[in-house]
Amino acid sequence: MWDIDYTLLRGGGVAARSWIAAFTEITGLDWRATPIFGGRTDLDICAEVFATHGVTDCTPERFFDRYVAIVHDNRHEFAEQGTLMPGVREVLTRLGDDPAVVQTLVTGNVPQVAAAKVAAFGLTGSFDAEVGGYGTDDSLRATLVRRSLERARAKYGEDFHPVVIGDTVRDIEAALANDAVAIGVATGATAAADLVAAGAHVVLPDLSDTERAVRALSNI
Ligand SMILES: [Mg+2]
Repeated sequence: MWDIDYTLLRGGGVAARSWIAAFTEITGLDWRATPIFGGRTDLDICAEVFATHGVTDCTPERFFDRYVAIVHDNRHEFAEQGTLMPGVREVLTRLGDDPAVVQTLVTGNVPQVAAAKVAAFGLTGSFDAEVGGYGTDDSLRATLVRRSLERARAKYGEDFHPVVIGDTVRDIEAALANDAVAIGVATGATAAADLVAAGAHVVLPDLSDTERAVRALSNI
């Protein structure tokens, strides 16, 4: 269960700019405060943004529709202004060669934006996105892990030993709440020591050591 932002890639601010554009377009309000996005679900961020701006006449669904459309229009900017994190492509490929592993996305992004981000870097084929967990599933990240596991069990008709990999304390907490293996990767704003303190089973500086990363993620 891969987190996207600052775990797989940096999107170069495309999603945040699209978010602000959608908000001002739909509400007619000036953007006042940029929330902390890291590790949070889009539903959670949306509730905060609406509350901060006193918005009561909009639904998350309506907002997300516009947000997704703007991201779609700007999707070429992900690869131009963003970047893949070190070693990501190699680790995804290696795990993809293992028939016992199903890789998916557990991300606070809405599904269409998650898909646009990984597509921009040619990673779509690495994931079974159908069994992912997304920012429209729930405000709480732990629920996203649970929903992903439920979807995987339903689709494949077998049980899984979930492994969550992410760059924030919220990723680690969401994993532990579901008895998943929690792998921290210190390629975001959170220090490795803080990921360890949150209870991560393994913390990697990045994914550039392919063997070490594959070992950790294979739960060996
Ligand atoms: Mg992240």
